[in-house]
Amino acid sequence: MLRFKGNGVYGAYAIGKASVFKRNGKKVCRRRITSAESEIKRLENAKKQAISQLNSIYEKALHEIGEANAQIFEIHMMMVEDEDYNESILNIIKTQLVNAEYAVAVTGENFAEMFSLMDDSYMQARATDVKDISNRIIACLVNKNDKKIDFNEKIIICADDLAPSETVSLNKDQVIAFVTEQGTGNSHTAILARNMNIPAVVNVGEGFLETVKDADLLIIDGYNGDIIINPDKKTIEEYELKQKRDIEKKELLQKLKGKENITLDGKRINVFANIGSVDNIGAVLLNDAGGIGLFRSEFLYLEKDRFPTEDEQFYAYKKVLESMGAKKVIIRTLDIGADKQIDYFNMDKEENPALGLRAIRICLSNPDIFKTQLRALYRASVYGNLGIMFPMITSENELKTVLSICDEVKKDLKKLNIKYSHKIEIGIMIETPASAIISDKLAPLVDFFSVGTNDLTQYTLACDRQNPKLAPFCDIHNEAIFRLIRYSAESAHKYGKWIGICGELAADTTLTEEFLKMGIDELSVSPSYILKLRDTIRNIDLNSNKSN
Ligand code: PEP
Ligand code: MG
Repeated sequence: MLRFKGNGVYGAYAIGKASVFKRNGKKVCRRRITSAESEIKRLENAKKQAISQLNSIYEKALHEIGEANAQIFEIHMMMVEDEDYNESILNIIKTQLVNAEYAVAVTGENFAEMFSLMDDSYMQARATDVKDISNRIIACLVNKNDKKIDFNEKIIICADDLAPSETVSLNKDQVIAFVTEQGTGNSHTAILARNMNIPAVVNVGEGFLETVKDADLLIIDGYNGDIIINPDKKTIEEYELKQKRDIEKKELLQKLKGKENITLDGKRINVFANIGSVDNIGAVLLNDAGGIGLFRSEFLYLEKDRFPTEDEQFYAYKKVLESMGAKKVIIRTLDIGADKQIDYFNMDKEENPALGLRAIRICLSNPDIFKTQLRALYRASVYGNLGIMFPMITSENELKTVLSICDEVKKDLKKLNIKYSHKIEIGIMIETPASAIISDKLAPLVDFFSVGTNDLTQYTLACDRQNPKLAPFCDIHNEAIFRLIRYSAESAHKYGKWIGICGELAADTTLTEEFLKMGIDELSVSPSYILKLRDTIRNIDLNSNKSN
């Protein structure tokens, strides 16, 4: 029994036989040619063939994993036609008088290296895509049929890496899991695995493929990334039990997928998801969230050792918006300070950081940082259904300043002829007692409120949310908090605006009925709580005193 560990990208268990996947990786030879013209013709034919193959893969993906996830193959088709990519191939053929296979292979390697050296993890992951399309064009040039992964029995694929097109071509009835030595949680391969519900572990590291052999028995733990090769009887029994329980739990909740969040007496509520990274979208879709109620954008800043550029932010926001299609995506502007400190902001040390320069206060003190983020958000807005939300608002004037900065950003974009959506909803977090108390003044200025109960609790009860010793004094169900939420809901509705809750209290199902009675329109929770919350909502009868 041997153990390996990687990153689990889709939580589930699999027990089955290994099938080690090796490509027919023949080296591409460099051949001198006499006519560049006829070589370019060969290349054009091969590209046509590659596009037609990608079209079929796109159709399969569209059918199996939906439009948002199939889009990667549209991007592959665009990459095949990319101007810079093609210019490089043609240049190599013409200037070196060499065969098209060689020119494509060299260009593919160069572009993949260029992507992998970029700072942005989304762009790094594109290295796999450019290699994938180059291999496809080469296979068409040498008339090798598209390699299909096809087996006669249920197996667990073990590979160095899998290209997105290989992943989507997997026959879901045969492949019960996959493990790759390389890969990241941000790669499309990982995203596809999540959306295809295939337990997968990536980034297991070198040595795994040298150890595992065809037909070895494997246990895959997609939750924590554990892989066990040839487990003993006791371990098999332990995992069989875990798997059974996991399936039962999921089956029960899966029955609620596609169902409405509606009470027994017919009141509907939106159940959205909270995310901190583009990586979480798979879980959002898998759990059937109606939208994203809180994207904590500060994680884009926290994971870097320098300010993320406007373009880096734009690509992250665009990806989330595109993945969610027409569903609402609420992105909260930078909320750092207090417990979320970032060295490169060079902030002064504060006596009371939770009461200090944090969130919107940092943005208003550093308009350049704020405007960079707003530009990225407005630019991305044309790719989906965006809402922008501002944290830690305490006064009308503060909100008016924020809105005037938004107007400046829009004006600048207009001058540059850069498009942005005119349907963006603007909202604020109600997470300070001040914002709740003057919610009647703030409501006319925005489209929605979202209550941040984590901070609202800490500021209302004067209990540092980071200090575990305050637990006896910090009653998260304190009536003061509910009064503030109730009053904010009344203010929002008085002006025809909607109100949600995105703090942790939104997932507390003992409170769901009370929130519904207050008129809360949306609850935004971690993706894994969505179906449980739906279950609770569907069992509430607001007309009776008791819930079922
Ligand atoms: C909150 O305060 O409830 C909230 C959602 O924001 P964060 O937890 O990111 O401070
Ligand atoms: Mg907060």
